[in-house]
Amino acid sequence: MKLTNHYAKLDPHLCQSADPFMVSDPKLLLWNDALAKQLNLQSLEPDQRADYFSGQLNLPGSKPVACAYAGHQFGHFNPQLGDGRAHLLGEVHTDSGTFELQLKGSGQTPYSRNGDGLCALAPALREYLMSEAMYHLGVPTSRCLAVVSTGDEVMREKPLPGAIVTRVAASHIRVGTFEYFAARGQMDVVKNLADFVIERHYPELRKSEDIYLDLLQAVIQKQINLINHWLRVGFIHGVMNTDNTLLSGETIDFGPCAMLGVYHPATVYSSIDRRGRYAFGQQAQIMQWNMARLAECLLPLINSDEKKALQQAESLIKAIPEQQSKEFVAMMNRKLGFDSAVFNQSWINDFLKRLQTKQLDYTALFIALTEDVTKPTEDDELKNQLGDLYRQWRQQVGKADLPSVEKTMRQHNPLVIPRNHAVEKVLSAAVEDNDLNPFKTFLQVLQSPYQAIEHTERFQQPAPEYDAGYQTFCGT
Ligand code: AMP
Ligand code: MG
Repeated sequence: MKLTNHYAKLDPHLCQSADPFMVSDPKLLLWNDALAKQLNLQSLEPDQRADYFSGQLNLPGSKPVACAYAGHQFGHFNPQLGDGRAHLLGEVHTDSGTFELQLKGSGQTPYSRNGDGLCALAPALREYLMSEAMYHLGVPTSRCLAVVSTGDEVMREKPLPGAIVTRVAASHIRVGTFEYFAARGQMDVVKNLADFVIERHYPELRKSEDIYLDLLQAVIQKQINLINHWLRVGFIHGVMNTDNTLLSGETIDFGPCAMLGVYHPATVYSSIDRRGRYAFGQQAQIMQWNMARLAECLLPLINSDEKKALQQAESLIKAIPEQQSKEFVAMMNRKLGFDSAVFNQSWINDFLKRLQTKQLDYTALFIALTEDVTKPTEDDELKNQLGDLYRQWRQQVGKADLPSVEKTMRQHNPLVIPRNHAVEKVLSAAVEDNDLNPFKTFLQVLQSPYQAIEHTERFQQPAPEYDAGYQTFCGT
C-alpha cells in the first residue's frame, strides 16, 4: 500500500504542503473495518493506526497538503477559504476506484485564517455516525475511516476533548475549488481541474465534443440524484455552501446536519441558519443555485463565444427544477410502493401537505404504510391521518402485485434513521461518561437501516416534543 497524490501534483496552486500537529496522546477510538478492507488498509499494524490517523506517522507515500478553495457561504462569496483544519494525505487506488484520505482536526494550515485547526471529539464522532448512516441508507457520501482522540483540549465555549477524524471521499474537489481559481482569472487551473474531474469521476465524457458543457450536465445529474436521496431519507444538510458541494456528488461536511422528524419543509436546525436558507424543503433550489455558481466558473471553457456559453449553460441550469421534480416524483412513488409513476406531482404535493398539517413523522409514517400493505382492512389511524389520500393509495395498492409493492417500500423506506435525540444521547454518553458502547450499538443499528436487528426498535422512536428546540452547530 502506497499513497499517491495526483491531485496535489496537478498544479502547484491547488494545495500547499502542511504538516499535521503533534498531539499528546493519540488513541484510536473508532476504526471502520469494512472501509479499511475496501481501501486495502488492513495490513497497517493495529497499534500504529492511532499514529497514522492522527498524522503522527506518515503513511507510505503520503505528503500531507492543505487544499485551496473559495465558496459562497449563505449566498456571499468568500474568495479565501481552503482546508483550515484538514490535511489531505493522498489517494489510494482500489478495485472500486480511487479514494482520498483526509485528516480533519489535525492542526493549522496556511488556510486556517483565525481558526485553531482543531476538532472536538463530539463532532468527530457525529460525523462518523452520520456518514456511516448515510452510506448504509444508500446515499452517496464521504465516509469516515477512523476517529482518534488526541489527549489535548480544544477551546470552544469551554475546553473540550480533541479528536481527529479521517475522512474518505472519491475526491474533495468542491464547487468552491473552481470558484477559487475562476475568481482569480486562473482559467488554466480551472481547465486542469475540469479535466481532472472528468478523468476521475466522469471518464465516459472523455470523448465528448462539448466536453465541459457535458461535465456541467453530469455534475447536475449527480446533484439531483443526491438531493433526492436526502429528501427520501429526511436529511437536512444544514450548510449547503458551495464549498461544501462536491463535484463527485457525494455528501460532505456533516457539521450542522440533522434529520427530519415531523414532516415540514421549513424544518431547519442549524443555529447559524436563521433565515432557513438551507431548510429541508429548500435543498433542491439551493442545489440549483450552487450549480449556477459552478456554471459561471466553466463558461469560458464551454464556449469561447461568451454569449453562446451563457446561453448553453443557462439552458442546463433552467432545466434543473423540471428534471429534479421528475426524479423526485419517481422517488416518492417508490416510497409508496410503485416503480412507475402511479401518483403524479400534484397528488404527492397534497400527500406531503397532509403530513405537514397533521404533523406526521416522515419516517414513521412510511413504516406504517409499509406494514399496512398486507393488511386486509383499512387502518383507522392511517385513515384519520391521511383521509382520502389513504384510500386512494390503498386502491392503487389493491390493483398491484402486493409482494412487489411491499418489497419496493422496504427497499426505499428506512426502518431507522439517525434521529437527532438518539444521536445526542449516544454522543453525550461517549463524551461525558466516556462510554462508547451506546454509540457502537447505535452505529450497528444504523448499518442495517432496512432490516431490523437486535436493538433497532430502541432507536426508532421519534423525539418527544417533535425535536422542538433542537439546534445544531458548525464546527466538526
Ligand atoms: P465548514 O463550516 O466546516 O465548511 O468550514 C468552513 C471553512 O472554515 C473551511 O475553510 C474550514 O477549513 C474553516 N474552518 C472551520 N473550522 C476551523 C478551525 N477550527 N480552524 C481552522 N479553520 C476552520
Ligand atoms: Mg466545509
